[in-house]
Amino acid sequence: MVNQVWDVVIAGGGPAGLAAAIAARRKGLEVAVFEGVSSDTGIDKCCGEGLMPDALVALRELGIVLPPSAGTPIAGIRFLDGDTVAEARFPQRYGTGVRRTTLHALLVERAREAGVSLHWGRPVRGLAPGGVRVGDEVVRCGWIVAADGLQSALRRAAGLESVGKYARRFGSRRHFQIEPWSDLVEVYWAHGAQANVTPVGDDEVCVAIVCGDPLLRYQDLLPLFPALVARLDGAVATSHARGAMTASRRFARVTGANLALIGDASGSVDAATGLGLSLAFQQAVVLGDALLEGNLSFYQSAHRRIAKMPRLMEMMMLAMDRSDGFRRRAIRALEAEPAQFSRLLAIHAGALPPASFALRLPLALGWKFLKA
Ligand SMILES: Cc1cc2nc3c(=O)[nH]c(=O)nc-3n(C[C@H](O)[C@H](O)[C@H](O)COP(=O)(O)OP(=O)(O)OC[C@H]3O[C@@H](n4cnc5c(N)ncnc54)[C@H](O)[C@@H]3O)c2cc1C
Repeated sequence: MVNQVWDVVIAGGGPAGLAAAIAARRKGLEVAVFEGVSSDTGIDKCCGEGLMPDALVALRELGIVLPPSAGTPIAGIRFLDGDTVAEARFPQRYGTGVRRTTLHALLVERAREAGVSLHWGRPVRGLAPGGVRVGDEVVRCGWIVAADGLQSALRRAAGLESVGKYARRFGSRRHFQIEPWSDLVEVYWAHGAQANVTPVGDDEVCVAIVCGDPLLRYQDLLPLFPALVARLDGAVATSHARGAMTASRRFARVTGANLALIGDASGSVDAATGLGLSLAFQQAVVLGDALLEGNLSFYQSAHRRIAKMPRLMEMMMLAMDRSDGFRRRAIRALEAEPAQFSRLLAIHAGALPPASFALRLPLALGWKFLKA
């Protein structure tokens, strides 16, 4: 290890780090991943566990196809706010609900098969001349990829952190043993909180709740959604509540001279969008090419482009979360215009280009919104 010079060293073996490692390795680069957590059997994390169709497309570009046994197909999204229900299905493609541990174990297996050198329980301590510091040694490399999550220390060390405000909320999730009652991800709203239900198995759903108050516990939040509680019908919880911060955060630059940020380390969208993993996998595909070319500038511009539509979706979801009145009107408008909701969902899922958002869709929904 001491004498080895890697083409790429990746800090963080979460989904973004592993996807980047697989992408770079597929380009023939020598890649090492250093992860602080010692388990390689599937790292768990608080997540809604929904993969949008474009996340699956990006995974396929990395040579990864989720076996049917890994998850449960997701056909679209249903919004529920009191008596108002709006739903739409993805055009052609499906998403997948998959347990984080299953997804992680699968990515680890693929990385290992691809020939990535994986080092668990070995956190990167900082940048060093010619590489990174791991324990007492300097691991030398040509490129450094920081995939160390929302609070990335390497982002700070590389001078890519920007000061200023950013929106934070708090999420927690729990699994319940119950046959999924729908093939749609359900989004339930209450005042100041939102619950997402994702089918993740033949007899299991993941219920993730996001709100602005870090002090509210899962057991305090769940009763805010009586319709969901009725649906769960006393189902047994199969996991403990696990929490995490979610943030809407962007950075002016995601690259340094020989360093690139990826995944949540490179900026994030609120958990309400369910698009964090999708962004990470799409970024990994582009980063693999950029590293092979030895040119990070096109990663920088592609990163901005990939985030455009998720940012727009985030704006809409957060506006719906902030104002009960706005949300009710918006969901009523979507209920009244199912074709336009399908169109919006197609853009959200990456099946239609962002340009499809132009004019017709806002006009149609805007009119219904005013009448709602
Ligand atoms: C409540 C909630 C619900 C969500 N729901 C969804 C959803 O349904 N769909 C979706 O696509 N996204 C969802 N997300 C977002 C998604 O979970 C994140 O976008 C995703 O985890 C980002 O992956 P990552 O690899 O960048 O970061 P992480 O998953 O945080 O991984 C970072 C890794 O880096 C390691 N690390 C940190 N520091 C170091 C270091 N110094 N050295 C080595 N290793 C280090 C950590 O141990 C960790 O394993 C949700 C998020 C929340 C909070």
